[in-house]
Amino acid sequence: MHVPHTFSGSCELSVVIPVYNEEAGLDALIERVTKAAQAIFANRYELILVNDGSKDGSWASICAHADRDSRIVAINLSRNHGHQLALTAGLNHVRGDLIFVLDADLQDPPELLGPMLEQVRQGYDVVYGQRIKRHGETAFKRGTASLFYRMLGSMVDTYIPRDTGDFRLMTRRVVDQLNAMPERYRFIRGLVSYIGFNQTAFPYDRDARYAGETNYPLRKMVALAVDAVTSFSVVPLRFASHLGMLFGLAGLVSLLGIVWVWMRGGTVEGWASLAALILIMGSVQLMVLGVFGEYLGRMYMEGKQRPLFIISEVRRHPLAANAAADGEAPVIEPDLREGIRVAS
Ligand code: UDP
Ligand code: MG
Repeated sequence: MHVPHTFSGSCELSVVIPVYNEEAGLDALIERVTKAAQAIFANRYELILVNDGSKDGSWASICAHADRDSRIVAINLSRNHGHQLALTAGLNHVRGDLIFVLDADLQDPPELLGPMLEQVRQGYDVVYGQRIKRHGETAFKRGTASLFYRMLGSMVDTYIPRDTGDFRLMTRRVVDQLNAMPERYRFIRGLVSYIGFNQTAFPYDRDARYAGETNYPLRKMVALAVDAVTSFSVVPLRFASHLGMLFGLAGLVSLLGIVWVWMRGGTVEGWASLAALILIMGSVQLMVLGVFGEYLGRMYMEGKQRPLFIISEVRRHPLAANAAADGEAPVIEPDLREGIRVAS
């Protein structure tokens, strides 16, 4: 039998990880996160794994881990909700004083918890990972990401640091503020920036994916970029008036040109240029209408006030679930030599 561990009932750290089709890497992920968290917080932490409607065996694997380790909380969403909403669901369940968010694919090294914690102890509320190098990502992905942050920076008043993801360590008061924001189109790294308090960057090298493939194809990246712009800026709405002025000016110049030609006894040739102009004007107007539609559609969807996510199951180890009532509970942690280790 092992030396008993007693769980004080207090939870100092909550690790939140959204999981979508990550079966192949889950064991390695949980092992590395557990090691990193345990080294600093002993048993006073929880690991919240949110299954975002995975189509592979991720949920079964998460459940198996949760059954063996009372520090793991398994949350199953009713279907795929997308990365940002899965993360939101996890953040809604945290009990810790500090919250550590990372991706399930081990691109963000869990071992950085220690150094990031140092920064929090120096008085920071948010320590966000900022990527210096990105291993295993295509030049296209890096290029588009960099372009996106530059564009976003020029449109919004809130400072949104570039080359960041959701990898970060936050204090409870930041997450409480985040959880109080009801919006559906969530660009979480932007919202955290918006919240303020003391924030600092933590430069790190981003590893390549441990297993599997990216769940962020171009389509989802564009959607995230549109979410980011529309939730933080109304600048695109002003494009219409800017474009209007620009085209008005162009019209005036060409009118002067036509009068000039006419005064010299000539005529400006016809319909091809006219047809091209009509098409260009039509397309510009439709594009502007599309931008308006984007904002209008978001207002419509927000207006419905549907819940941000739907949970089908939250699984805690029975002993850990009782802890909430008693304030004290034994910790069960897996032991590779014995299968299951129970301590009381
Ligand atoms: N993810 C999710 N739901 C989705 C897509 C992704 O929960 O619909 C999770 C995924 O499991 C991972 C994180 O979000 O933990 C980031 O996804 P990914 O690594 O595919 O993105 P990338 O790092 O390539 O931008
Ligand atoms: Mg990734």
